[in-house]
Amino acid sequence: MDRPLFFPHGARIAVLTQEVVGILDYLAPEGGVRLGQLVVVPLGPRRVMGAVWGEGAGDFDLARLRPVARLIDAPPLTPEMIEFLTRMGEYTLTPLPMMLRMATRAPDLDQPPSARRIIHRAGPEPERMTDARAAVMRVIADHGGAGFAPAELAQLAGVSAGVVQGLVKAGTLAETLAPRDTPYPRLDPDLPGKPLAPDQAAAAADLGDAMRTRAYGTTLLRGVTGSGKTEVYLEAVAECLRQNRQALVLLPEIALSAEFLDRVEARFGARPGEWHSGVTRGERRRLWTMAAQHHVGLVVGARSALFLPFADLGLIVVDEEHDSSYKQEDGVYYSARDMAVLRASIGGAQVVLASATPSVESWVNAGLGKYRRLDLRARYGSAELPEMGTIDLRHEETEKGRWISPRLAAEIRARKERGEQSLLFLNRRGYAPVTACRACGQQIGCDDCDARMVEHRFQNRLVCHQCGATKPIPVACPSCGTEGKMTAVGPGVERLAEEVAERFPNMRASVLSSDLFHSARALKDAIAEIGAGQTDIIIGTQLVAKGHNFPRLTLVGVIDADLGLQGADMRAAERSFQLMRQVAGRAGREGGEARGLALLQTYQPDHPVIRAILSGQDEEFWDAEAAGRQAAGMPPFGRLAGIILSHPDQPVVEDYARELARRAEPLRTIGAEVFGPAPAPIARIRARYRVRMLIHAPRQAPVQAAISQWLARAPKAPANLRLAVDIDPMSF
Ligand code: ADP
Ligand code: ZN
Repeated sequence: MDRPLFFPHGARIAVLTQEVVGILDYLAPEGGVRLGQLVVVPLGPRRVMGAVWGEGAGDFDLARLRPVARLIDAPPLTPEMIEFLTRMGEYTLTPLPMMLRMATRAPDLDQPPSARRIIHRAGPEPERMTDARAAVMRVIADHGGAGFAPAELAQLAGVSAGVVQGLVKAGTLAETLAPRDTPYPRLDPDLPGKPLAPDQAAAAADLGDAMRTRAYGTTLLRGVTGSGKTEVYLEAVAECLRQNRQALVLLPEIALSAEFLDRVEARFGARPGEWHSGVTRGERRRLWTMAAQHHVGLVVGARSALFLPFADLGLIVVDEEHDSSYKQEDGVYYSARDMAVLRASIGGAQVVLASATPSVESWVNAGLGKYRRLDLRARYGSAELPEMGTIDLRHEETEKGRWISPRLAAEIRARKERGEQSLLFLNRRGYAPVTACRACGQQIGCDDCDARMVEHRFQNRLVCHQCGATKPIPVACPSCGTEGKMTAVGPGVERLAEEVAERFPNMRASVLSSDLFHSARALKDAIAEIGAGQTDIIIGTQLVAKGHNFPRLTLVGVIDADLGLQGADMRAAERSFQLMRQVAGRAGREGGEARGLALLQTYQPDHPVIRAILSGQDEEFWDAEAAGRQAAGMPPFGRLAGIILSHPDQPVVEDYARELARRAEPLRTIGAEVFGPAPAPIARIRARYRVRMLIHAPRQAPVQAAISQWLARAPKAPANLRLAVDIDPMSF
């Protein structure tokens, strides 16, 4: 970049507040400031954080500018990072201050590091153990003894600060100053990795060549479940480390990271930096700084790790690239997969998108030659892909109030006799999806959301999966008042567990559902127990579809294969296919005598998605999906953007949205159509009514510019109205 990097006089500073949109001029401190330097500046009566974004305009009177209050003791953002944030802001139509906030989220960045006090375990458990104290000890244990800021620890444990101080007085915990930021241990790329199978070696060599270009490129690494994609992309990481550049691996679930960290350690002799919401603030601050100073070679993280200020990022791996958790749909709406490609293209880095079931977008991009494609077509070693079959529920009925068909039950018993494990997959958390009154039929919904309340028997409450609100299961129907007639309708994993306990009393079952684990560690322990063979039947939600290896698992039963097939969403078939293919892929991963078997319980065995799953002709399925998108001009053949408006008052938001739609001239000029306003996919959340407009435009149309123009001329919004722009929405 040919921008100057140092400003001796005035500086333009991007200020991190909601109210200021744009960039303000300040007087540089004596000695000047660097581009990207984080600073504290006065804003009215307040002091706020900001970043130096460029040179002051020059045509102002320096004497009238307010001076920068102080410099923050943190590495400046690189020009590359500034360009990434700017371009991502333009793409997602996000104001710069919000983008900056995402990049500087390590929360105590504006505290001098030496002043940070941290709490850690120092002695035996206290004599007097209260519930509150136990909660604190649990948080500490879950984080493997890492240090916490005192307030953070209290907050994580849900107790008052006094409880933490009490434990310090008792000698169980101690408070010290945080050590100076220390580099992460060096990973050694030249330790011997596992010997690769020929197709793995070929793919790894190809990625190695790509790394050596030191230029941007994206590769779709497609390999069937169990083909050993991880070993392949770890070789790309090794090459990146040899070049003395940094690598980032994004994973869709923190839960996955425990197993992954072990694999990294086995390959490179040390653990990578870790970044996700379960990492303490002190550790996040350390990683942030070390990334900027090139003192960490590999970071494994959730989507927000993409905003770490790496000094020289050479590789970004997006594992399970099709996973919907890469899409953030709140605050800034963005796809971490797509933004990884943007960041890499700015910084001359390689991207590896890994998946057994790629998104239609990536599949098409590979077909068009925008991405390269590498395929691993067989499982690693002697393991074969599982045999697939359906159980036609029209003919093989389950008993009333039961969900495991006689044939599936027989297969489970056969596995038990052979000392093997079975997995029952049902993508529904809780006990029952619906609680209804048998007298009047009324279903219990959330007071604030357009959603049914889901019974969770372990908590003995009804829970809203949208907003998290809970209430007791009522004795009397809230609608007709009849007592004792409230009934659970349909199965969730907890209810399935009840059926398993009744029908297979001699078998041990474990339920894996995200709401039942309060930390990644707890989940890791549960998975380790299953791996050690302490379970006969695993009952799980989509949590089990993602990447875990259970060596003794040879049977997968999909309880309701029809669950995701319906719905107007164009992506429904794709999602359903991905989920079932991934779940089925848990079976028979270790080879050995028994080939895995996956059985889909369905009322529609002839549905195209079920047939595609059974046939194993995945490429035909993707091609057909792609053709459907092309015929409809849908992404990636055309462009979509969603505008989501919300307000506590339904008529207010509907009227305003209709008014906006009437003025959509700038959109029509670029050949875009506007659909809606219509109720958003979830029409009410947290007592706010939501409507959505969908903008559909030709592929090359300047959608962002047109939306900006349109919204700039929008009528004044009613108080309390919220508007969000969702470029490339997930559901359409
Ligand atoms: P994928 O991510 O493609 O589903 P993994 O990378 O998890 O597959 O590999 C599946 C299993 O095969 C894992 O248990 C892994 O340790 C093992 N594996 C893969 N490649 C090798 C190899 N080259 N040598 C030994 N074991 C391997
Ligand atoms: Zn709710």
